[in-house]
Amino acid sequence: MLLKILLLVGVVALVYFIFFKKKPLTNSSQNGDDTGDEMVACHTCGTYVTLEDALLSNGKYYCSQECLVQQK
Ligand SMILES: [Zn+2]
Repeated sequence: MLLKILLLVGVVALVYFIFFKKKPLTNSSQNGDDTGDEMVACHTCGTYVTLEDALLSNGKYYCSQECLVQQK
């Protein structure tokens, strides 16, 4: 009986810990936007930029205007 309660508390604590740990990660970037820290690779040079900073052209992401122009 006691073991069951302990296990339940353990599971609840684990779930709470996961959610608590996850929260600060979502706003680790300065602006704290939901999509702010999602990284995409530049199609031309392969540099990783945040989805917010990336330029989208023809379904491909670019890190800067120069890379967008250089696209093959
Ligand atoms: Zn680039």
